[in-house]
Amino acid sequence: MVVTKDLSRLGRNYVQSGLYIEDYFPEHNVRFIAILDNIDTAYDTSNNDIAPFKSILNEMYAKDTSKKINSVLQSKRNNGEYLGTAPYGYKKDPENKYHLIIDKEAANVVKLIYGKYLAGFGTMQIADYLSKHNIPIPSDYTKRNRGTKSLTYGLWQQSTVRFILSNEIYTGTVIQGKRKKISFKSKKFINLPEEDWVKVENMHEAIISKEDFERAKKVIEATKGSRVVQNDYLFKGLLRCYDCGGYIGIRSPDKNGNIYGRCQRYGRFGKFQVCSPHNFNYQVFEKQMLEILREVCKEYNNTKKLEEIAKQTKSQQKQEIDIKAKIKSFKESIEKETRKLEVMYDDRLAGIITLDEYMKNADRIKERVKVYEQSIKELEQELSGEEDKTRDENRLDNLIQEFLNMEKPTKEIIREFIEKIEIHSDKQVDIYFNFKPLQEVNNNLENFICAKKKYEKKAV
Ligand SMILES: [Zn+2]
Repeated sequence: MVVTKDLSRLGRNYVQSGLYIEDYFPEHNVRFIAILDNIDTAYDTSNNDIAPFKSILNEMYAKDTSKKINSVLQSKRNNGEYLGTAPYGYKKDPENKYHLIIDKEAANVVKLIYGKYLAGFGTMQIADYLSKHNIPIPSDYTKRNRGTKSLTYGLWQQSTVRFILSNEIYTGTVIQGKRKKISFKSKKFINLPEEDWVKVENMHEAIISKEDFERAKKVIEATKGSRVVQNDYLFKGLLRCYDCGGYIGIRSPDKNGNIYGRCQRYGRFGKFQVCSPHNFNYQVFEKQMLEILREVCKEYNNTKKLEEIAKQTKSQQKQEIDIKAKIKSFKESIEKETRKLEVMYDDRLAGIITLDEYMKNADRIKERVKVYEQSIKELEQELSGEEDKTRDENRLDNLIQEFLNMEKPTKEIIREFIEKIEIHSDKQVDIYFNFKPLQEVNNNLENFICAKKKYEKKAV
């Protein structure tokens, strides 16, 4: 039973609440009560029939409210009133929550960042300078008193510096309305084109002059896209550092054409004693990983063949036929019992048996029918479970076949197989498969462990 105060509490979207009231609840034997609307599906009253119309009215009401709120927000935006949480460098004016005032400590950091950038330092150098001087990163700065541990170890990222260098708010300009909700029903946002943004200048005290901001912007735009396009490696994105849980980055070939993998957190923050290198030769790794995968797949095929031979005496198919036959015979028994009941009823009417006898026998028959029905239910569940299992197995079989036939496997097929691969600092590798049977083969395979050892030696 579902009880709500009124219909609007079930949902303001009439298509969805209608679906529940008209289809889902009746189909699943759920009684629905909306107290203030006098709706109770256990009783057949005209109030229940009005429910869909009430739902439509509720939605119109919600749409109207949403429109009103939106127009209030829009006029605030047009007036340059700041609606979000205060950006790093500012805080909310205690006298007017739509106005920003300078937060001196953070504002000085912002000034320092712009100053260094315009003096020719790169974003990475600035980030490291701030980390070295123990300046808290913006997210830590705002929640300094809450004591939550940050994933970046409290160290400055280039992206944070870059973000501060391209945020026009520091010139006193408020920019809002960069995105909007698709509709009042949805939680999704779409990004709006720049010409639709609401931009109001001189709304609060500037930390950075407009000239300095424009100069910084030019440099940032010039460096955009200058980064080398990364190569698309077969195992890219699947490799994790066992020790810190971060990604293993695959670097561009060095002058000898060698490609190395390395813990990204170490690469970026190693100078601050974060994690360890986890260095390895990616080309060797890829070759051996493919060998391992092939071995696991072949081993899976072998064990499956053995299982099939073992099953031949009592094959799965035979089992399935047995179950179906049992269900059929139970159904026939139910029919027989029902017929008995009919005959007995006739006998009772003709006065051949007493009411007492009839009741006793009828109860017994109903009891038996119940047992048959329960057994049928259980057998049918068993049957559908078997079907699910075969479907998964077929998918895996096809994948393995495809993989083994490929001369050069694709990124896509590898992602079908593998969830992730963890790399230890001593170059041990743990493979996490998306398929349980493969994981089992992988865990049991004696020669796989040898292959892993082999890999260790070669990679070292
Ligand atoms: Zn690491």
